[in-house]
Amino acid sequence: MGFTTLLVASLAVSSSAVPLLNPIQAIQAAGPAAGQVITKCSSPGMIALAYDDGPYQYTQKLADILSNGGAKGTFFVTGTLYGCIYNQKTAVQNAYKAGHQIASHTWTHPHIGSLSASALTTEMTKLETALVNIIGVKPTYMRPPYLETSGSVLSTMKTLGYRVITDDVDAEDWNGKTPAQSEAKFQAAGASGNGHIPLMHETYQGTVETLTPWLINWAKTNNLKLVTVAECLGDAGGAYTNGTGNSQTAC
Ligand SMILES: [Zn+2]
Repeated sequence: MGFTTLLVASLAVSSSAVPLLNPIQAIQAAGPAAGQVITKCSSPGMIALAYDDGPYQYTQKLADILSNGGAKGTFFVTGTLYGCIYNQKTAVQNAYKAGHQIASHTWTHPHIGSLSASALTTEMTKLETALVNIIGVKPTYMRPPYLETSGSVLSTMKTLGYRVITDDVDAEDWNGKTPAQSEAKFQAAGASGNGHIPLMHETYQGTVETLTPWLINWAKTNNLKLVTVAECLGDAGGAYTNGTGNSQTAC
């Protein structure tokens, strides 16, 4: 076998091997595994601003503040916690269309660590149906209310195909911290290491109007890209999947 034959043979082998993914690559291509707790981004140089408990009266304003700051955020929404999700249908649609990620925070925001798998499944599927009705797709990411991952939570999320997100920096807006106190927590956490996925709530005016602009500026000062949770996990195209809607327009 001459040199040319060898070269052609090795080229043929390498080119035919390119499209084939080994099992680890196939899992990575599919995004993070369902049913496992994820606390932060998979790479440095980014931050995934993430907000729970909406939609509410500030949803549109928050989406606009993020968009105007060149940021993408993630909204972990419920069906009924701060009023019916259909009441904020347009704001949710606008946030989705602007490229912010819409993810699940259950239908009624219960303590899911003590729910049966069946009751938890209903909590998830009711929100899925509403989101298919509102934005046309269902999410593959969720954050447990109260960050509860005990009981049947993880096994049920694995069954339903949900990536479970908690946090690595708690802004503690839910705990009465002022925006300045929350800012100090980010400064203490620092900008190095794999990107933060903070716990914040879009239901507080200070979080939307003061903390978020400060965080956008802080991220830019520290050369952090402001991305969705899915993107910060290398799964930019995997935030949603197809689902089945219905004719419901109210909770
Ligand atoms: Zn919550």
